Amino acid sequence: MKEKKTMSLAAQIFIALVAAIIAGLLLQPQAAFANSYIKPFGTIFLNLLKFIVVPIVLFSIMCGIISMQDIRKVGSVGLKTVVYYLCTTAFAIIVGLIGGNLFKGLFPAIATTELSYEAAAPTPFMDTLVNIFPSNIVSPLVNANMLQIIVMALLIGFSIILIGPKNEKIIEGITTLNDVFMKCMEMILKLSPIGVFCLLCPVVASNGPQIIGSLAMVLLTAYICYIVHSLVVYSTAVKTMGGMSPAKFFKEMLPAIIFAFSSASSVGTLPINLECTEKLGVDREISSFVLPLGATINMDGTAIYQGVCAIFIASCYGINLTLPQMMTIVLTATLASIGTAGVPGAGMVMLAMVLASVGLPVEGIALVAGVDRIFDMGRTVVNITGDASCCVIVNRLEKKREGKI
Ligand code: ASP
Repeated sequence: MKEKKTMSLAAQIFIALVAAIIAGLLLQPQAAFANSYIKPFGTIFLNLLKFIVVPIVLFSIMCGIISMQDIRKVGSVGLKTVVYYLCTTAFAIIVGLIGGNLFKGLFPAIATTELSYEAAAPTPFMDTLVNIFPSNIVSPLVNANMLQIIVMALLIGFSIILIGPKNEKIIEGITTLNDVFMKCMEMILKLSPIGVFCLLCPVVASNGPQIIGSLAMVLLTAYICYIVHSLVVYSTAVKTMGGMSPAKFFKEMLPAIIFAFSSASSVGTLPINLECTEKLGVDREISSFVLPLGATINMDGTAIYQGVCAIFIASCYGINLTLPQMMTIVLTATLASIGTAGVPGAGMVMLAMVLASVGLPVEGIALVAGVDRIFDMGRTVVNITGDASCCVIVNRLEKKREGKI
């Protein structure tokens, strides 16, 4: 019997994206309907992703470590990953600051007299550091605290390697559990075209094109910087260090990019990103370590957004940022992007920390809050593309180190 040919998931997601925009525009007069009856299905889909993400991060990082067998290899992969993540993030803020300064003259001058924004009290740096380390084994899983889950996975993974030959059964158990959750994820991902449609359609219906309005130039600046950063930094890195054509890289990444754009969640995109990097030829042992880490700590798009918004907010208050202030922004935005959770809207909350570090009024966030979702869709795309580029590069460098290529 001839096998039924099905459309690829990427094509299905793309069709869902276009359909969501069209349906959203048509449903504009009935935005309430879209929010009450379409959005909940998107929420169901996001809930399923959140449900699967905790076991996936835990087990995939553990499996990544176990399959590397050797603590030195984990150290080598970990070091390369963290260095790449930090350098690209610092570069991203510089791109954001340069873009912001270049287009500053075109930014609207919005009156700041009546602004009010309740920023949550920023957590002191030392507290953030302390909070990375879990004080019990269940709470990181219950609260989906990704940084704590990573620490847990690292500790348990290392211990499994260190107990030596006794570890056979536990390795088998963890690998099987990882397979089970991967299967579960595969089933959830089959729903992604519906998920994408139901998430995006209400956003378009309730915001429509007019929301862009006066902030069009700021949004455009952020998007130009997102594109420039992705095309310049990731293409160059993938080509030179990863030995891969950028065209191939972006082509295979398309499903993850579209998904990140509509869901605005790096963590939610993790399962699709794992599949895309597999298609790019990255070993699972590398991607299952590098990607969950990246979805938690590597946020280049968020960093760009923070740079552009800092310049915009400063210009609305008639403040000209000095070079030392900009350098402070590079530092704080790098740290802020590590602390940003890979969920919708998290980057805006962390913007408060960046603004406070250079004495800009935190209420200024109110200027951009209305269109945050639009900023967020683009920055999430950059965030996950950065993670994948790291995967390709670390994969190649490790193969070279081991003399396999
Ligand atoms: N939504 C972004 C992400 O998931 C984080 C942010 O808000 O900047 O990557």
